[in-house]
Amino acid sequence: MPDYEYHCEACKKEFTIWQTFQEHDRSQRVKCPHCGSQRVRREIGLVFAKTSKKS
Ligand SMILES: [Zn+2]
Repeated sequence: MPDYEYHCEACKKEFTIWQTFQEHDRSQRVKCPHCGSQRVRREIGLVFAKTSKKS
């Protein structure tokens, strides 16, 4: 189950949303559950960057 971490630009809070890849690809508009803003930014690469050392 893929989970996506988002950072809200409006209220500066972070939240996680569970989506399938298809749902994520189709629904680009993610709303912040705290303030309802759509000014959200996806946090990517943090976990994968640490574990993708092998080439
Ligand atoms: Zn927010």
